[in-house]
Amino acid sequence: MLHHTDFKLHPQVIQIGYYWGEDGHAEVYLLEGERPVLIDTGTISTPKTYLVPALDTAGYRLSDIRMILNTHGHYDHVSGNQAVVDASGAKVWLPDADADIAQNFEIQFERYFSHRDVLADRPDRYAEAFKEIKQHTALTPIDEYLRDGQQIDLGRGIQLDVVAAPGHSPGSVVFYWERAGIVFTGDSVVGAGSRPGGLPWIFFPGLYKRSLRRLLALDIGTICLGHHYFSLTQTRTSVKYGEDIQKFLIESEQVLDILHSCIWDTAQDSDENNVAEVIRQALPKIQKYFPVTVDSQSGLPMRLGATGTLQAIWQELLKNNGKQIEV
Ligand SMILES: [Zn+2]
Repeated sequence: MLHHTDFKLHPQVIQIGYYWGEDGHAEVYLLEGERPVLIDTGTISTPKTYLVPALDTAGYRLSDIRMILNTHGHYDHVSGNQAVVDASGAKVWLPDADADIAQNFEIQFERYFSHRDVLADRPDRYAEAFKEIKQHTALTPIDEYLRDGQQIDLGRGIQLDVVAAPGHSPGSVVFYWERAGIVFTGDSVVGAGSRPGGLPWIFFPGLYKRSLRRLLALDIGTICLGHHYFSLTQTRTSVKYGEDIQKFLIESEQVLDILHSCIWDTAQDSDENNVAEVIRQALPKIQKYFPVTVDSQSGLPMRLGATGTLQAIWQELLKNNGKQIEV
């Protein structure tokens, strides 16, 4: 019998769900090649709490893991690496463009988690959020860098193509098992976001659009997402099949387009060019589509990452003189 957070979605693929903090939830995928391989490893507590029991029910131990393939460098996907490496000597493969954030928590925090409190000028809350996220984080060793176009053979018929899909982070990649029609996307495709009251994390909007178009061209029968992302039209789920996949990819681009127009319209209407003020004024428009939680004191989104995403869209818009994000 499988552990309650596990789901065997293919004879050689098991999804292992894990939780952390107040409402963090994401997915690790176990691939049964010649030896077991993990796609991502979760937070610092994931190996002991979730991976060991899941591996046990599948007939493995943590020490059997041969390789860790990381979809990107965020703490909630790579912080279990060190414990798995300690137990197994597994090799860690991580996208080169995300190596800096995976190996330096201060850099990661500043780039992805700091915007809300910097724009609101709240160093106290910055320190609080820093502490909260840091307790779930462990830095990772890296043995090999993942790059677009690589092929990785795991044995027993599992061959993965590495496809660069930047946008959520600069290094984000997907692993495409063409013969099985399965793609593992990590956070490369973010729908309408993963947390209630938040927004999808799109820190490089132009690259994100291009990546979605590239994934649309692949022949995919099963998509395995890194979180159970919200959707405007579909059930909230982390594995999708058949025509739902194409719809979800298209919708993910539409979500970005909506955020982009809300920001652009606001800037046009008010001639405002202070980013915090643009975001404050755009929020009522954005809330018509997404139930974003707003902090009453700052007037900015409450959820970490949401302000950073809107700021990134604003910056992209300035770069393109307000025109649609180029693909
Ligand atoms: Zn991420």
